[in-house]
Amino acid sequence: MELAKTIESVRALVRQAKAEGRKVGFVPTMGALHRGHISLIEEAARQTDFVVVSIFVNPAQFGPSEDFGKYPRTLDADLKVCEKAGAAAVFVPSVGEMYPQENLAWVNVEKLCEPLCGRGRKGHFRGVATVCAKLFNIIGPDMAFFGQKDVQQAVIITRMVEDLDMPLKIVVCPTVRESDGLAMSSRNAYLNAEERRQAALLYAALKKCENMFEKEGVRQSGRLVEAMKEILRQGADIRVEYVEIVSLRDLEDIDIITDKAIAAIAAKVGGTRLIDNIILDLNRK
Ligand code: AMP
Repeated sequence: MELAKTIESVRALVRQAKAEGRKVGFVPTMGALHRGHISLIEEAARQTDFVVVSIFVNPAQFGPSEDFGKYPRTLDADLKVCEKAGAAAVFVPSVGEMYPQENLAWVNVEKLCEPLCGRGRKGHFRGVATVCAKLFNIIGPDMAFFGQKDVQQAVIITRMVEDLDMPLKIVVCPTVRESDGLAMSSRNAYLNAEERRQAALLYAALKKCENMFEKEGVRQSGRLVEAMKEILRQGADIRVEYVEIVSLRDLEDIDIITDKAIAAIAAKVGGTRLIDNIILDLNRK
């Protein structure tokens, strides 16, 4: 596996792979890799011939009061994980390599950046879309792999690629979970034992919603949201930021579910902000 720290060196690796006729897959990450990331790298290795993983904690997507400084950084372990999962190259640029001057060109995927996490994290998705656009331009992959865990991000990047005619395919992979259902996240490392126990309530709430939707045929968002909130209230250290049901395509609020929808939760458990979601699909099964 190759390690590239500069734009020039990763471009040279990809150029070589393409010259050999290989299809290039790309998995962007912020490191502190866990089984969720591994599933993306493995899927990329199944669908493409040369997988590039990027590890870059992107300052442009963190607000001033967020955890950029303390975000977990575990590069040595991450490199081993990448190699084992089937990466051919890892791109680990410095902040100076990615942002050598004040960044003035921003990608704003209007409307989709505003709801859900966009309300509490102003500028976050502009930072995400911009760094993904930069990474797509640097690497030039045929396919890029994202997790459903960050569903708003996946919807925004898919739309950016469509609207700006970027020549790659976005693949969204299922959320990988702990045995009690908690979605794997680099931020789970911040939870103490009691918070970790309560964090499982996010998925319990989503499962309750899925059950009411699939088994009881409930279609009113209001009823589903109320049932999820009731479960979250069982966690003394849980402070809900939002519990919402929105359409999968454009993240708009819906009263009655008639098409694919997302049930999404963001909550602080102690001091740690967690998100999770499931897709509600009328046509499933
Ligand atoms: P991050 O390092 O948190 O920026 O995440 C990098 C990629 O991994 C994103 O596409 C995430 O959606 C994805 N990811 C993070 N956690 C999970 C998970 N539990 N299951 C599947 N994908 C995940």
